[in-house]
Amino acid sequence: MSKRTPVMTGGCQCGAVRFAVYAEPYNHHICHCRMCQKAFGGFFAPLVNVKNEDFEVTRGTIATFHSSRDVERGFCAACGTPLTVFDDGSDHLNVSIGSFDEPARLKPGIQIGMESRMPWFAELAGLPADTTQSAGEKDGFLDELAVIAATNHQHPDHDTETWPPADGTQEDER
Ligand SMILES: [Zn+2]
Ligand SMILES: [Zn+2]
Repeated sequence: MSKRTPVMTGGCQCGAVRFAVYAEPYNHHICHCRMCQKAFGGFFAPLVNVKNEDFEVTRGTIATFHSSRDVERGFCAACGTPLTVFDDGSDHLNVSIGSFDEPARLKPGIQIGMESRMPWFAELAGLPADTTQSAGEKDGFLDELAVIAATNHQHPDHDTETWPPADGTQEDER
């Protein structure tokens, strides 16, 4: 592990892969291209750039898939979280914003891949809205929400010494 102090940290949902970045990410963007949609299983890929030398995998290994000759997409082989997009020979890589521990700090400044943007993308922010809790109350799945909270296997949004916890407790019980 590096002795440098991370600027930000992140990792996959299951915690098998953790990473650190040692410089402020740049070029915060979302990519609507069809390959990013497929790779992320979403409407777009939210990404920031980090110089190769400022990115370090601090736990586990990032599995990769070459989506084209020169583009390598990195993900967690255990849980599937999309983590990186690397263009062969580049001095930087793209890191998925949602995998960072503090994604709200990484506000996108530009959108690309407009040819594939969902035609109703601009309408999404105006959809009827609920919190998880208020939806649970309205639609009657509060019991399920309690089970999710009590058996949450998602890695917390900070580095951990060992994961999963050796004693089997959840983060909110520690
Ligand atoms: Zn994982
Ligand atoms: Zn793309």
